[in-house]
Amino acid sequence: MAAAVAAAAACHSPARLVVSCSSSAPPRRPLRVAVVGGGPAGASAAEALASAGAQAFLLERNPSGAKPCGGAIPLCMLDEFAIPRDLVDRRVTRMRVLSPSNLAADFSRALPPGAHIPMLRREVLDSFLRRRAADAGATLVPGLVTSLSLPSDPATDPYLVHYISSDSGGPSSSRCVLEVDAVIGADGANSRVAREVGAGDYSTAIAFQERIRLPDEAMAYYDDLAEMYVGGDVSPDFYGWVFPKCDHVAVGTGTVAAKPEIKRLQAGIRARAAGKVAGGRVVRVEAHPIPEHPRPRRVVGRVALVGDAAGYVTRCSGEGIYFAARSGRLCGRAMADEWGLTGAVTEAGIRSGYLRRWDDEFRTTFRFLDLLQRVFYGGNAGREALVEMCADEHVQRRTFDSYLHKRMAPAEPWGDLRLLWRTAAAMVRCGVLGREVERLRRLEQQAADQVRLRH
Ligand SMILES: Cc1cc2nc3c(=O)[nH]c(=O)nc-3n(C[C@H](O)[C@H](O)[C@H](O)COP(=O)(O)OP(=O)(O)OC[C@H]3O[C@@H](n4cnc5c(N)ncnc54)[C@H](O)[C@@H]3O)c2cc1C
Repeated sequence: MAAAVAAAAACHSPARLVVSCSSSAPPRRPLRVAVVGGGPAGASAAEALASAGAQAFLLERNPSGAKPCGGAIPLCMLDEFAIPRDLVDRRVTRMRVLSPSNLAADFSRALPPGAHIPMLRREVLDSFLRRRAADAGATLVPGLVTSLSLPSDPATDPYLVHYISSDSGGPSSSRCVLEVDAVIGADGANSRVAREVGAGDYSTAIAFQERIRLPDEAMAYYDDLAEMYVGGDVSPDFYGWVFPKCDHVAVGTGTVAAKPEIKRLQAGIRARAAGKVAGGRVVRVEAHPIPEHPRPRRVVGRVALVGDAAGYVTRCSGEGIYFAARSGRLCGRAMADEWGLTGAVTEAGIRSGYLRRWDDEFRTTFRFLDLLQRVFYGGNAGREALVEMCADEHVQRRTFDSYLHKRMAPAEPWGDLRLLWRTAAAMVRCGVLGREVERLRRLEQQAADQVRLRH
């Protein structure tokens, strides 16, 4: 491994990092995998591979960067991925959802003692996960992957990964080549790997976020509180958020339907939270696409996509960190297991070891959240109904179970039936309330227009 690191650091233009190879079984050498992208998906894949004895090369173009992200993760991720508690900036025990008419539902009544939503900064989480992958034996390669050369023999020939090295120990910006048996594309929503193998496109939302440093007393308000705002003024198809971090709040919003208007929507969330973030100083502005659906092809030959590159973000909540880490780990293990058993990695093996298991476990969750988004974010009527329902303890318990612990709570027939009935009733009631809110907003707008015309 040390030789590989040395070779990577010493690459000149163009150089080739070759680990001695023979593709015939039984395996006399370890499996070689290039993992492109060092976010939660890539770091988890590289760690899983290295822990299983594979040579994992983790290529990251910007190791000191910070992925634009709200940084909320489910509680179960701390144990499942052994994330040290001291990496957590804030433990949110109160989640407030605010409707278009500013009706608030406090999502904390059903939270069991000790349970919370951990909030982290991504630069902290990602560098920890990458370091741990390196401790397990993965080689961290700072560099931008520019293209892949696909094998002429799809079964046995290696893949060539072309990248521009930014290793500070070597010559700056040198072109390098890495020869591997398989590739994991963990390079996010604008995945270069997906493009190189023709994995197809997906639609994306755009998310925009400002990190705002607040005066102490304003920050104290958000000590253990996160807010979600819904309404056409903050997003036509998503929600706006105020999430607390160590010394600032992250205030943002996202949309698919109104991307060119993202700044107006951001002004909307700033206006809704104005009283609480007053006196704050914007210390960073960031934006990034979020995938809306899985990619048409997630495995092509011996190349697999994971995390955002594969499209694993739930639509209703915009959650992707946990799914990135889970899919990366699952994919890494699947490749290492197949290599261990057969001395090869194959498309069929990746499909059954990774894709099929992933879909079995998560397809229903993703479809369910898709449906929820269509029902509740489609207009202000649905949003009012959503907030009304969020006040319900049964809804809160079920939501916390599925979000915090990533498990579906066992069915409670009477509770669920009551919930169904209440949902229908809330939708009917809020159909009226929602129209009223829209009407009031229109009237307000007309009044403002008249005042403008008069002057
Ligand atoms: C504003 C915003 C807020 C969000 N809030 C939350 C939240 O609160 N909770 C949550 O769970 N999810 C949230 N998400 C979603 C979450 O950020 C993603 O789902 C998650 O980051 C996916 O992880 P990943 O490892 O797949 O990809 P990424 O985190 O995007 O990592 C990809 C990595 O690949 C690297 N890379 C890209 N191209 C190349 C290349 N060619 N060569 C080398 N390296 C490359 C990038 O530098 C990056 O480090 C949010 C997203 C946004 C945009």
